[in-house]
Amino acid sequence: MLDGSYWFECHCYDDEHTVRFTLNKGYYEEGTYKSDNEFPELYMSTFLSTGGFFTRLWLGIKYVFGYRSRYGHFGNWTLVTEDANKLEDMIQDYKTAVGEFHLRNK
Ligand SMILES: [Zn+2]
Repeated sequence: MLDGSYWFECHCYDDEHTVRFTLNKGYYEEGTYKSDNEFPELYMSTFLSTGGFFTRLWLGIKYVFGYRSRYGHFGNWTLVTEDANKLEDMIQDYKTAVGEFHLRNK
């Protein structure tokens, strides 16, 4: 089972689009629980660029004048086809860990 962090590059291979998925199953591989009430988590982290002063100033000026990117305020990440199984495995392991959590916390 997966436990820990895995990085998924974007299909465009822009470093800033790389995301990290972290699975915390709430127990160790040996079957010992980190804590009985530690709920399993699967979360995603992404890079948020703040830029330097002039970059922020330029973004502020554009905001004041109502500029909007055609993508809105969101970036995107596109799953690389070869990583689909890894992401699917993480989601399956998360679902298994949640089921085990509910079994030991009835
Ligand atoms: Zn990308």
